[in-house]
Amino acid sequence: MSVKTLFLAGTSALLLAACQQATNGSEPEVTETPPVVEEDLWTHGAMVAAADPRAVEAGLEALRNGGHAVDAAIAVHTVLGLVEPQSSGIGGGAFMVVYERESDEMTVYDGRETAPMAIDENLFVENGEVLGFLDAWQSGRSAGVPGAIALYKTAHDAHGKNAWASNFEAAIDLAADGFVVSPRLAGTLADPRLRQFTRLDDHPVSAAYFYPEGEPLAEGAVRDNPGYAETLRRIATDGIETFYIGENAEAIVATLAEDPRPSVMTVEDIAGYEVKVRPALCGEWRDYRICSAPPPSSGGVTQNAIPGLYDRLLPEEGDDAFAPIRAFVDAQRLAYADRDHYVADADFVQVPAMDLINPDYLDVRATEVFEPDAVPTPGDPGVALGGNPMVGMWGQDPTEDAPGTTHFSVVDGDGNVVSMTATIEAPFGNSRMVNGYLLNNELTDFARQPRKSNLPVANAPAAGKRPRSSMSPTIIFDEEGDLKMVTGSPGGNSIVAYVSKTVLAVLDWGDTAQQAAARPNIIARGESVGVEVDVEGGQEIADQLTALGYNVEERRGENSGLHLIVVTEEGLDGGADPRREGVALALEE
Ligand code: GLU
Repeated sequence: MSVKTLFLAGTSALLLAACQQATNGSEPEVTETPPVVEEDLWTHGAMVAAADPRAVEAGLEALRNGGHAVDAAIAVHTVLGLVEPQSSGIGGGAFMVVYERESDEMTVYDGRETAPMAIDENLFVENGEVLGFLDAWQSGRSAGVPGAIALYKTAHDAHGKNAWASNFEAAIDLAADGFVVSPRLAGTLADPRLRQFTRLDDHPVSAAYFYPEGEPLAEGAVRDNPGYAETLRRIATDGIETFYIGENAEAIVATLAEDPRPSVMTVEDIAGYEVKVRPALCGEWRDYRICSAPPPSSGGVTQNAIPGLYDRLLPEEGDDAFAPIRAFVDAQRLAYADRDHYVADADFVQVPAMDLINPDYLDVRATEVFEPDAVPTPGDPGVALGGNPMVGMWGQDPTEDAPGTTHFSVVDGDGNVVSMTATIEAPFGNSRMVNGYLLNNELTDFARQPRKSNLPVANAPAAGKRPRSSMSPTIIFDEEGDLKMVTGSPGGNSIVAYVSKTVLAVLDWGDTAQQAAARPNIIARGESVGVEVDVEGGQEIADQLTALGYNVEERRGENSGLHLIVVTEEGLDGGADPRREGVALALEE
């Protein structure tokens, strides 16, 4: 909790003098009463939690130089794009949720990749057949116009304190000098099964970068990336137009026009990219206020619906120690079914986002718990809230995605916050490289099958539309409106489950940030419940759920990347997912 202090503005020395005079028996000369100002001091320090120590250090350096959390975020993300290229980068998109403490304002910067103007709902349909995920992924068509760079600019214009160019320095230096390849990156490149899917070898520029002489970059090798350094240098000195107009845009178009399945993206599509500045989607849960990104992100809807349903599903009494896990599983099953059906780009389709987290709807929805072996179906907030039925507006959503994303959390020395999840969609995006960075395959986050049972699917492709995202960058406030927690994760569809695990673990189960990140993941979407059995406690959960009749899928090697910060009485408590290579570090006092 922050300390609220009363003090007398700007006149303390004068007052002291006046008091001293008064005690000497003479009349004080001060006649005006100085104004009383309430100053809300941030006393908890600053922290950065992200997927790589070099990115965390870049963020801390930005903060040391007096930067805002947004400055640190740009420094963090440009380094991640270099050292963790499988997960995100400037060829992709992101959602950044910013909390500005002095004005008590939340803003969401939606830098989601956008579909070219020449596509239609049949983007992934050929001769009447829906393309398989791998064919859709490994195609020029899967790329959306990248949004990360425009997001940096819009957020920096609104919040930045450090010079724009300074936020790129760490990444430029590391790209020019070379960075040490981490075990995780090396392992990803060396995995023969993944290599078949990513098909980096099919693209000469990517193959030469990641498989020099045909061999995967080895752990500990030093890899430089002059193309990335140069791209960032231009953006830093000449502005983001160097990315969206001219040579770079032409290179993106040319690369995506290559086989297989060339894209129809044009330089006009790239020049026309717009960051959407949106209000955060916030809801009340217990004494907390949970805020995350609105559609096309699923964050705001699911991170409110799951805790809300969880509370309604917890038995009022009894000493069943497993009851919270069961309530969490059933809450997820209901919330995922709703999310899958309704959430899409609200600039294109009607999304009942606030209805889906309305307490009256959650009261009704919580009565619809499905048998453990049933496949959950969506609820109808229209009917539940006394309006027109809604569920029949849309066909059943078949969207799949593959994990390739990163999340980081920043709290700066003034208590401003960034919660940002960034992506290129699948590992290494669509595997095509331009000017030192990988392009994304984000459009596979659309429903590839645009209609189901003759009904349009809400998340079907359309020109200029943004695909639905599972990314859930979240910020939570306590009963006094003070910052409590910053969280988020990569992990494709499972993001929703990973992030809500940390929310309940910290706020209801008493975990530290690190314990919450490390806990076994439980993903209850659709017909089965995935349980991470290679983490302590996971097998017991799997066995208990199986005994209750759930269709349990025992999972190993889960792909969460939770990087969270919790405000405690003792200060900031950081957590970094042990499944990745990140750290959470406080800025030295
Ligand atoms: N592209 C996915 C989304 O935006 C995220 C993929 C991942 O987390 O790896 O929801």
